[in-house]
Amino acid sequence: MSTPAEMTIARGGAWLLDSADDAPLFTPERLTDEHRLIARTAAAFVENEAEPALERLEQKDWSVARQLLRRCGELGLIGVDIPEAYGGVGLDKVTSLIVSERFSRSASFAALIGGQANLTVVPIFLFGTAEQKQQYLPRLLSGELVGAYALSETGSGSDALGAKTRATRQSDGSYVLNGEKMWITNGGFADVFIVFAKVDGEQFTAFIVERAFGGVTSGKEEHKMGLHGSSTTAVVLQDVRVPAANLLGEVGKGHKVAFNVLNFGRFKLGAGCVGGAAKALGEAARYAAQRRQFGQPIANFGAIRHKIGEMVVRAYAVESLVYRTAGLIDARIEATPHDPADGSAALAALEEYAIEASIAKVAGSEMLNFVLDENIQIHGGNGFVRDYPAERHFRDARVNRIFEGTNEINRLLIPGMLARRAVKGDLPIIARAKALQDELLSSPSMPAADDSPLADERMAVTAFKKTALMVFGLAMQTYGQQLSEQQEVLMHTADILMDVFAADSAVRRARAALLADLPRASMHADAARVFVNDAAMRVDASARQALAAMAQGDMLRTLLAALRRLSKVTPIDTVTLRRRLADAAVARGAYIFQA
Ligand SMILES: Cc1cc2nc3c(=O)[nH]c(=O)nc-3n(C[C@H](O)[C@H](O)[C@H](O)COP(=O)(O)OP(=O)(O)OC[C@H]3O[C@@H](n4cnc5c(N)ncnc54)[C@H](O)[C@@H]3O)c2cc1C
Repeated sequence: MSTPAEMTIARGGAWLLDSADDAPLFTPERLTDEHRLIARTAAAFVENEAEPALERLEQKDWSVARQLLRRCGELGLIGVDIPEAYGGVGLDKVTSLIVSERFSRSASFAALIGGQANLTVVPIFLFGTAEQKQQYLPRLLSGELVGAYALSETGSGSDALGAKTRATRQSDGSYVLNGEKMWITNGGFADVFIVFAKVDGEQFTAFIVERAFGGVTSGKEEHKMGLHGSSTTAVVLQDVRVPAANLLGEVGKGHKVAFNVLNFGRFKLGAGCVGGAAKALGEAARYAAQRRQFGQPIANFGAIRHKIGEMVVRAYAVESLVYRTAGLIDARIEATPHDPADGSAALAALEEYAIEASIAKVAGSEMLNFVLDENIQIHGGNGFVRDYPAERHFRDARVNRIFEGTNEINRLLIPGMLARRAVKGDLPIIARAKALQDELLSSPSMPAADDSPLADERMAVTAFKKTALMVFGLAMQTYGQQLSEQQEVLMHTADILMDVFAADSAVRRARAALLADLPRASMHADAARVFVNDAAMRVDASARQALAAMAQGDMLRTLLAALRRLSKVTPIDTVTLRRRLADAAVARGAYIFQA
């Protein structure tokens, strides 16, 4: 099995222009023994230690949260991808993805560790000086210190750079911070905060702030819809004196810290959503097998089989794109000559795959929402009461569509970042879109017949890519510099792009499984085929709406005719395929592709 380092190093967003070749991509089937061992360690920790502690966490007993972090530190699970020099384990991003995925099976605990590992350790590793890393990372990675990330304020959530918290420069080089942060995960008991403030009211800047500096107080715990076992509070900074040595990165460059940390957080959130979906799928499958109505298990009913089959299909697609992204990030880091103790290679890789990270976040959180809603439905009345975990999962997961950048903001970012790369010439999108327009408006060449595995699905994915290019190219041409103001068109474009990346990743993964004759290869193919079948309808619907917003009359008719030629995807018998997937999940009592 290849390691991530052997994956192809592609530019972020390049999948839009790729032909459907068989360039290897990282998939869960390629996990090494070491990855699987860590996955088992993280899963055992969640099952035996985090889950049993949930009730005390929900009672806001933060001494339990501290104990859990310390245990995680002992097991080396806080900093799996941080260099050993700072107390980490020095493994790859795939490892950190697997750990996030396993941790997310216990949502409140996942928020606690996310605030620590993703939101505090990562910014210090990526942007900290050698002294800052030495000072903070070993104690954060051992769980001795608890971290939190304080970006949002009452008046600035999505518009994070609109923060009002102020850092006033002192004559001795230190800063005095004043302001109030909102909704801070671990806010009630954290020792160290990554705080964003404007130096002299203007330059947005990151700082490492210790509660011990004085002047840091936590507000009351928020009454939340879910995640009752995680701390979320306001954090008030009143005349907090921060030494010059605790400036994180450069003055006026806080946005670099904030956005890159979010890139990483988004990719990890996508992985976490796969973990949450896998857990709920197991619950749904087992419940459907044992719950009897009309003299038989409800798992026998087509309506329930449809639901379970669709849950599997959607989880499979997101899992495929999340692992692919992890492989891309690792391959790029490994291909960049760097000192392992230095975060610059990781930083460059995270920036490169920011588009994929946003897709992982949106596609993951919406897939999870669907899976958890159907889990409740399969549980019937039992899904609505607290005796079963289904209702808690649903409440806990809702925030995934809100934090780490709302799904609206991330949807805008996906085509927005691609457009910037196109204009800079990093990706030849404009030339390819123009060539495609010429091809579509004349007579498109028919692709040669192909009888290799999943040939129809590969052709469909190629058509999705062309549709994306047609819509995106026309949007750039029509709106130019004003494209960012056309949010509805951008949202449709984002939806198409997400389906392109998901379908491409799922089909390539399934093809690799078939070509290598892996166990359950035919089920991989079933999942990919159903996903592509339904994606074809979504892509077509989004494209029609976007095109109709940009063109009228003859021009629109010509474009729609071109779209019809592209959208000729013959429907398949998804009933049979979903049934097969559902029956396998019910027989196994689990998500069938569990790595
Ligand atoms: C449980 C929880 C934990 C959190 N943890 C943290 C944390 O640890 N640290 C931290 O700093 N923050 C944290 N947050 C805050 C979170 O990041 C913000 O809630 C989030 O960024 C959204 O900001 P907002 O709530 O101000 O919503 P708003 O920005 O007011 O958005 C409201 C709505 O308007 C939409 N919208 C806003 N701007 C635009 C636009 N330009 N175009 C189109 N639509 C737009 C949004 O998508 C949303 O639908 C947490 C929040 C919660 C609920």
